[in-house]
Formats: sequence, structure tokens, C-alpha cells
Amino acid sequence: MSTPLKVAVTGAAGQIGYSLLFRLASGALGDRPIELRLLEITPALKALEGVVMELDDCAFPNLTAVEIGDDAEKIFDGVNLALLVGARPRGPGMERGDLLSANGAIFTAQGKALNAAAADDVRIGVTGNPANTNALIAMTNAPDIPDERFSALTRLDHNRAISQLAAKTGASVNDIKKMTIWGNHSATQYPDVFHAEIGGKNAAEVVGDQAWIENDFIPTVAKRGAAIIDARGASSAASAASATCDAARDWLNGSAEGDWVSMAVRSDGSYGVPEGLISSFPVTTKDGNWEIVQGLEIDEFSRARIDASTAELAEERTAVTELGLI
Ligand code: NDP
Repeated sequence: MSTPLKVAVTGAAGQIGYSLLFRLASGALGDRPIELRLLEITPALKALEGVVMELDDCAFPNLTAVEIGDDAEKIFDGVNLALLVGARPRGPGMERGDLLSANGAIFTAQGKALNAAAADDVRIGVTGNPANTNALIAMTNAPDIPDERFSALTRLDHNRAISQLAAKTGASVNDIKKMTIWGNHSATQYPDVFHAEIGGKNAAEVVGDQAWIENDFIPTVAKRGAAIIDARGASSAASAASATCDAARDWLNGSAEGDWVSMAVRSDGSYGVPEGLISSFPVTTKDGNWEIVQGLEIDEFSRARIDASTAELAEERTAVTELGLI
């Protein structure tokens, strides 16, 4: 048996964790042995023990070990992949600054712990919100880990955009390629159909309905999370877990030939996105590395939306800089 991939998951007793752990253990990253290392805050450890009992009861052939704990440095010891899901949700009366500082404390500590303990080849995916800025905080607090090892999740938005486009055009999700989410994982994100393809044809031309793109498609994708809360009475969790698996699998194993994926990664200034922001781009991945797709033409419509979302990211960066978190 090959050496198990050591995968850390934070917030492992939460809603997303409850779906994510079983997907990871049953082969979402490929048919390979896997060790799970699960971090929780102390009061959630008891619940996490129950989840581990269920993992045991599945008798997953590829799950070699499960470690749980509330000490980040111990849990991150030797991990090859860290999925940072746990974050502090906005509570009643909490201002944006309170939310940023509560999460800042979590992601500062986790960045330092990863820096001290993770394996040399570690890749870190941040799902917990505000995901882009949490990734920026963790990255800045892990000076020995290369910046390109950090990313924030926009794959759920990417998958939502593909699904909406498939429903509108009657195409299969398999026929839709080159979808892009630009910017922040927030309501300002920009799902771009102008570079997407359906069965090899330009998606915007296949749709042929600019009003639908502007007034239905973009807001539906950007506000999907709120629609699910309205309908389900709880936030989306299984789809967030599924997207977390998709993103990690493609990062480690490579994106499909002739296609790309959306990942929020450190900007090198491509497409006018200020350098250093963790912003979503079209990327291809290979052997655990990503590259921003270059040379796409950005028209005025797309430019305005990319700029609005990256301006929000720049504001968040200013706020966490002022709080002394980065
Ligand atoms: P969830 O598992 O539902 O969500 C976890 C995080 O993922 C939240 O920040 C959430 O953002 C975010 N998220 C990203 N995309 C989505 C999406 N599409 N739908 C829903 N959420 C999304 O939260 P729970 O409260 O159930 O669980 C969080 C767990 O994290 C708790 O068990 C808590 O104890 C733990 N925790 C662990 C920490 C640690 O390990 N050190 C630190 C802090 C918390 P949003 O809030 O915007 O929905």
C-alpha cells in the first residue's frame, strides 16, 4: 500500500464536515489510502468523537487512520493537504470588523501552525468564510510555505454556474467547459459565461440572451447560498463539501485537458487584479500546481464586474491590515 495522504480538516464536526469527511474517506481524491486529521474547538470534540464512530462504522477500505484534537500544530503535523472549513459565522449584532477579527484570530493561528508542522508539499484550501481573506491571513502567517500553496474555494460558485447554464440551454453539465468565477467568494463575484463553451461553441452566443445573463444568471449564482437557506432552513453544506472535494482533487491530480477550473489564488497582477490579493481566476492545474489562464479578452461588461469584486477584496485586505492580522 502506498503512503497515505495526510489530510487535515478543520471545523470537522460542523455541517460541511459531516458531508466532507465521508466523501474524502470513500475516495473523492482518488483510489488511494488516506489518513484524516481532524481539528475542532474544544467544546465540539465530543460531537467529533461521534462522527469518528460513524467513520469507523463505514469500514472504508482506504481510510488508514483518524486523529482528532484541538491543538492545530499537533493535527497539522505532516499533513499534505489542509482543508480549512471551520470559521466563525456572523452572530447577532456582529459587525464586519468583528467578523474579520474573530476569523483573523483563527486563521492567524492556523497559518502559524501549518508553517510549523505541515509537510513540505502541503496544499491548503480555505472553505470557511470570508474564504479569500481568511486564506490571505493564513498565507501571510506562514512565511515558509510558498504563497501558491494557498487557495480559497470558488469551485462551488463555478459548479453552480455550470448547473444554471445547463438548465437554461438543455446541455449536459459535461458539455460545459471553461466556466470562470472572478473575484471574491461573495455576492460581488463575477460568473463569466463569455469565455465559457457549450459543446465547443461560445456559451454567451448559445444563450443569446444578454438580459438573462445580466438579470438572472449572475444574481442567481451569486445569491444561491441565500436561496438555499430560505428553502432548507440551513445553509448549503453537502454542495460546499462536494466542491471542496472537486477543488482538492483537481489541484492534486490535474484539471481536464481542454478545460479549466476556478480557484481563488494569489494574484500576480494578471487581468489587472491587484497583486497579492487572493482572487478567483480561471486556472489550469497539473501535478499539484496551478497556472492562471492567460490571454483572455476582457470586455467592458466583464471589466466592471471584475473590478467591483476585486475592490471589495482590496477593502477586506485594508481592514485586516489595520487590525494587524497581516
Ligand atoms: P459549516 O460547516 O456549515 O460552514 C463552515 C464554514 O464554511 C463557514 O465559514 C461557512 O460560511 C463556510 N462556507 C463556505 N461555503 C459555504 C456554503 N456554500 N454553504 C455553507 N457554508 C459555506 O458551519 P458549522 O457552523 O456547521 O461548522 C463549523 C464548525 O467549525 C463548528 O463545528 C465549529 O466548532 C468549527 N470551528 C472550528 C475551528 C477550529 O478548528 N479551530 C474554528 C472555528 C470553528 P458561512 O458562515 O458564511 O456560512
